[in-house]
Amino acid sequence: MYFEQLSPAFGTFVDSVREKKVVVVGHARPDGDCIGCQVALGRVLRAMGAESVCLNQDPVPRRLDFLCPEEFFVKPGEWKPEGHVAVAVDCADPDRPGVAVRDLLAGFDANIDHHISNTGYAGLNLVDSTSAATAEILAGLFLDNGYPIDPITALGLYVGIATDTGQFRFPSTTPRVFEISGRLLHLGADPARASRCLYERESLEKMKLLEAYLSSLRLECGNRVCLGVLPQDVFRKTGAGPDDTEGLVDYARSIDGVDIGVILEDRGVEIKGSFRAKDPRYRVCDLARHFGGGGHDCAAGFTVEMPFDSFYPNLLKVLLEHFREVDSGGDKQETDGGK
Ligand code: 5GP
Ligand code: MN
Repeated sequence: MYFEQLSPAFGTFVDSVREKKVVVVGHARPDGDCIGCQVALGRVLRAMGAESVCLNQDPVPRRLDFLCPEEFFVKPGEWKPEGHVAVAVDCADPDRPGVAVRDLLAGFDANIDHHISNTGYAGLNLVDSTSAATAEILAGLFLDNGYPIDPITALGLYVGIATDTGQFRFPSTTPRVFEISGRLLHLGADPARASRCLYERESLEKMKLLEAYLSSLRLECGNRVCLGVLPQDVFRKTGAGPDDTEGLVDYARSIDGVDIGVILEDRGVEIKGSFRAKDPRYRVCDLARHFGGGGHDCAAGFTVEMPFDSFYPNLLKVLLEHFREVDSGGDKQETDGGK
């Protein structure tokens, strides 16, 4: 058994929805773990007799469309929630799916997630923050219960694990990650195909966005922070889309001597920010939480409604204070998330 506590509860839940309609909800601006989990859970529920659909506020990014060979995803405006059991995946709190989805649903019957900041907002909360990805939990729950994992389900789960571990490079990459991934390969997941689909289909527009981001990079906090800004008009100028920001911040973190990489998207009325740390001791989820967001020790994000010019000095102050606290050993508990 991979999840001795969670798997029996998951089995009971699946038994209770076999004849029902289920909506599998993901978060706003969905990533590989989110879409991989939605596809996988949707398919397994169908195989077990339920009628399932996947619901997101934002569309499936083009990068991940290879996981969705059939019409599986519904949009908030074109779908009626009546009679559906609602399950959230990869969502730390009930607001993560976004306003359009939150306003549509009365609440969640189940919540499957790996964020340490998960608020336990559903009827059934299957949360394990020692897992590198929600897909790792889901794969374990399927395997423990002996549910059918077809090659597309296996690929979705593999992509969730591979993307959330930064291709098996982050400290969250445990022996269990490799064990479960190995099982998924036996069940038909193809890592070479996943990697080709994920990373060898970039657009020229995305490269131009990368160029804009790289040229904006600057060092702050005694060169321990590398930070880049995407100005308001950058998407119009480059032709890139909102999903094309994925992965840019990794370049800022990759610089020698830098502890934390930052990307700030200036949207005029609000700022979307992401933090990436090399080491979990920098607990960037605490930084993100400071601005109303959340995430993991090494990867976290937030959105604040504030003009850029007043936000920036505040961010630098918070970063310096955070370094002081971390360097002094900190008075906060070590967390086990985002390892
Ligand atoms: P990203 O920086 O790629 O948007 O997100 C990195 C991590 O932080 C993800 O695990 C994501 O779930 C989390 N995250 C990003 N934005 C938010 C936010 O606004 N609120 C919360 N709670 N988590 C976020
Ligand atoms: Mn995840």
